[in-house]
Amino acid sequence: MSIEDLNKLQKKYIAENNKLEKYSNARNFASGSLKLLDSSKVAKRNLDCVLYALYGENLPHDNHLDNLEKAKSWGFNISNSITVSNNITRLMENINRIDIQRNTLPFEIDGVVIKVNKISYQNILGNTAKSPRWAISYKFKSIQAETLLKNITYQVGRTGCITPVAELSPVNLAGSVIKRASLHNYEYIKKMGLQIGDTVIIEKGGDVIPKVVSINLLKRNNLCRNINFIINCHSCGSRLEKNQTEANFYCLNIYNCLPQRIGSVEHFISRDALNIQTLGSKTIELLFKELLISNISDLYFLNLDSFIGLPGFGEKSGSVKKAENILFSINESKMIPFDKVLYGLGIRYVGKTVSKKLVNYFRSISKLMAASYEDLLEVDEIGEKIAQSVVGFFSNSYNLNLINRLQKAGLLFEIQTHKNKSYKLLKLSFVISGSFTVSREDLRNIIEDNGGKNMTSISSKTSFLISGEKMGLKKKEKAIRLNVPIISEFEFYEMLK
Ligand SMILES: [Zn+2]
Repeated sequence: MSIEDLNKLQKKYIAENNKLEKYSNARNFASGSLKLLDSSKVAKRNLDCVLYALYGENLPHDNHLDNLEKAKSWGFNISNSITVSNNITRLMENINRIDIQRNTLPFEIDGVVIKVNKISYQNILGNTAKSPRWAISYKFKSIQAETLLKNITYQVGRTGCITPVAELSPVNLAGSVIKRASLHNYEYIKKMGLQIGDTVIIEKGGDVIPKVVSINLLKRNNLCRNINFIINCHSCGSRLEKNQTEANFYCLNIYNCLPQRIGSVEHFISRDALNIQTLGSKTIELLFKELLISNISDLYFLNLDSFIGLPGFGEKSGSVKKAENILFSINESKMIPFDKVLYGLGIRYVGKTVSKKLVNYFRSISKLMAASYEDLLEVDEIGEKIAQSVVGFFSNSYNLNLINRLQKAGLLFEIQTHKNKSYKLLKLSFVISGSFTVSREDLRNIIEDNGGKNMTSISSKTSFLISGEKMGLKKKEKAIRLNVPIISEFEFYEMLK
């Protein structure tokens, strides 16, 4: 395929994609709005805020509901559906009442949260690593709806995986109009025996995307016709392939199939990879459309001039700042550790955990690239499928070129031997308790990066206890008893200045 053909295809794909519905559901709309860089745009979206808990050091009351009522008296919105149940029978009655009301509520819910009302009991129960022990969610049965399957379209994912999508007669499901639903993969359609023209049952599960769960066979008629799953990629035209052991068809034209190329950049900048959060999907598509990038390494060769004159950028729209922010975070990403960079490369079957294992074993990209299939099998938990994929990836000249450019750009391709950022916390030891604005792991790293020492339990040798939200009571008592100063997260950051 020539460059011109590729550019034409690129423009066609982006134009088609822009026609798609902008907001598929309320949750994405709200979280997407909050990520907008322009606060005046956020203001236009009429979002509302409803408090579900009141947190603080000196709360007005020792129970959840009274605190929320207090917040209401200060002018905040709180839910009108909160009730206190003194026994399990009352609790189930309240749950069932809300289940009946859920369709008439002015917002979507998929269940209720049951909480211990008394704050002192909440403190005694404490938290697990992930969630509080004093609150649990109760999920309602998924709401279903019946509608007509009009057609099937296809999406190409980052790995070339083809996902069939059900195009439906619009139907109301839990307050939103559904026109499309997931059909997972080829095998799913085959197993269900689905035909175009079938009446299907769709439901919203825990996911935000609705899915087709079954067929109402009583409504099948002679207008229904078999589904001929596509043989060629609808985007690039390549012949699709399917492994016997897999449920999906794949487009193997990974370097010239545009949705795959865009997907690979989106994966590369995602939170768990290079974490370039200032770069949104829209900007990535724009950069592709303007031929400013064609792969992940091109990101590192962008400059302010690249953005001037692009829609939404440039001096006129007053958003030079936006381009500067993007370039700043692209530059920052050069500090991201090797295992995340490796994950960001998007090697098939190399997820976050596998990346860590490979990086810990081989320690540098040159050693990993030199590793044979047999060498890779030596690594704990690395099987044949992963080993094959890794060897395949590094034997491809396109990938080698890409890595070469990323290395030139200054990304980290080996494990860094620990270098301290400062020695401001030298000879100081810390115990942390509760939850913080950063993860506990990150906080521990900050302590060590600045010469401090982490301790798991408080002793008379502890220099400081850093208290987070919902700090353990026992730790607090022990710190007071041993005269260990208790500081907040904020006070801790002040020490680093
Ligand atoms: Zn393709």
